[in-house]
Amino acid sequence: MADETPKPEELIQIDHRPPKTDWMEVPVNIRKGMYCYASNPKSVEYLGLPHAREWNPLDEDWKLPENWQEIIHEGFKERLEKFRSFKVFMDICVRCGACADKCHYFIGTGDPKNMPVLRAELLRSVYRNDFTRMGKILGKVNGARPMTVDVLKEWWYYLFQCSECRRCSVFCPYGIDTAEITIMGRELLNLLGLNIDWIATPVANCYRTGNHLGIQPHAFKDMLDFFVEDIEEVTSVQVDYSINKKGADILFITPSGDVFADPGTYTAMGYLMLFHYLKEKYGLDVTWSTYGSEGGNFGFFTSHETMKRLNSKMYAEAKRLGVKWILGGECGHMWRVINQYMDTMNGPADFLEEPVSPITGTKFENAKSNKMVHIAEFTSDLIMHGKLELDLSRNDHLKVTFHDSCNPARGMGIFEEPRYVINNVCNNFYEMPANTIRENTFCCGSGAGLNAGEDMELRMAGGLPRANAVKYVHEKYGVNMLACICAIDRAALPPLMEYWVPEVDVTGLHELVANALIMPGENERATDLRGEDIPGREVEKVQEGESEGESEEQADE
Ligand code: SF4
Ligand code: SF4
Repeated sequence: MADETPKPEELIQIDHRPPKTDWMEVPVNIRKGMYCYASNPKSVEYLGLPHAREWNPLDEDWKLPENWQEIIHEGFKERLEKFRSFKVFMDICVRCGACADKCHYFIGTGDPKNMPVLRAELLRSVYRNDFTRMGKILGKVNGARPMTVDVLKEWWYYLFQCSECRRCSVFCPYGIDTAEITIMGRELLNLLGLNIDWIATPVANCYRTGNHLGIQPHAFKDMLDFFVEDIEEVTSVQVDYSINKKGADILFITPSGDVFADPGTYTAMGYLMLFHYLKEKYGLDVTWSTYGSEGGNFGFFTSHETMKRLNSKMYAEAKRLGVKWILGGECGHMWRVINQYMDTMNGPADFLEEPVSPITGTKFENAKSNKMVHIAEFTSDLIMHGKLELDLSRNDHLKVTFHDSCNPARGMGIFEEPRYVINNVCNNFYEMPANTIRENTFCCGSGAGLNAGEDMELRMAGGLPRANAVKYVHEKYGVNMLACICAIDRAALPPLMEYWVPEVDVTGLHELVANALIMPGENERATDLRGEDIPGREVEKVQEGESEGESEEQADE
């Protein structure tokens, strides 16, 4: 955590009183700790985006192209014509304020421009000025204002402070989706080369090597081999896995974060163990891929075009390998893209089969068109049909709560499946308060959805509502583990917990599954996947030690 990040007792001093000055009169104040670095021009060039250059958000001069206002106006016009939803969202807000206090960034910062209604007004004010008769005639009285450099800077600062989580849209009586407005605003900023590096570079890496981290295929495989060794240490079973295997039954794609960063790595070990178990018991052949090595779609944070391109890579790989359908790992925004955009962007994926579990015969109806099944659905179906042998007591050292990751929850309605799985692999599960879970879930606050390091103050402030709910169940029930089904969550929540509720750790769902899964041929396990003692076993060890000691003493006598 950056040294200059305020301490929790400082950050909690939030002023939610409305400002006396009209919002349009308050100039933007771009502060360190609250924004992500500007994009590296090499990555912008790699993506084929215009106006790649070095620039610094703290500089007065952002080195804009001369005709930048015209570029924004034309880009705005094009998107209003192309996306009917955008035009509707620009027109229908009645400024009722129902969404105003629903954004975690507003709750955590008190900055009125983080109210969803005001975030959208940043664009709407220019829309009124440029595209509506009343705005042109009445100007500010009608909430209109011309595009200026200051307005542009305000757009950049606040549109990249939105994590596109869509909590606000749940409360809007008109269903206005502020995340969609954010996406449009970012597309317009792209036209001027105003991106952030935590988007541009991962997407460029994805174009080049297939994953956000830019990991080469052999390094991806090396990591899986390391996991195999680690699993063997814990279970005594050497798991077997398929990679880039043509003709496998199913292609498995998960975020690269699970393969390369703790605690996601334990989730990846969980997947390996589950697939090994299914192969041994039921002959199911699931393959990983070094080409489809990224489930996450940072294109979602960039533009519709990049989102579409990254999504298509997964389907191209499924076609190349000739699998029946795709199984998707514990990822966040991948699922929003799959569930809400895939069909119109790249679908329908008719070259794949409608997904049916070869083990239980269950038809995954909701994946009928996109042919991609969420692993929480897949595993809960296996458990429901009694296909997994499980020892829940191996997770007895954990008191677990569940964070609904925004995109699988609000983007596709995955509420019950992860809870069903947790309840069948753990004995101690506690829900956070109802207004902070399921469709009301609070975002992890990972700073524009990207988990950068330079905007820690924003992340800690934005994550406060989620952390506060975790603190509640920690204090009430002794919860010490926060489970989630998103790789960004698994990366973003540990520092958030360390900052606000340091007694609570973070896990993926399939780490818990793997702890409980009784593998064919395994020895009695002494530890979980993290090397923590399994409750009861350490007592046995002490007793063994004591009795050994006692008998030695007796022998001496
Ligand atoms: S961060 Fe979420 S709640 Fe806040 S404005 Fe964006 S989509 Fe709405
Ligand atoms: S709830 Fe909907 S209509 Fe009301 S202010 Fe927010 S976006 Fe506008």
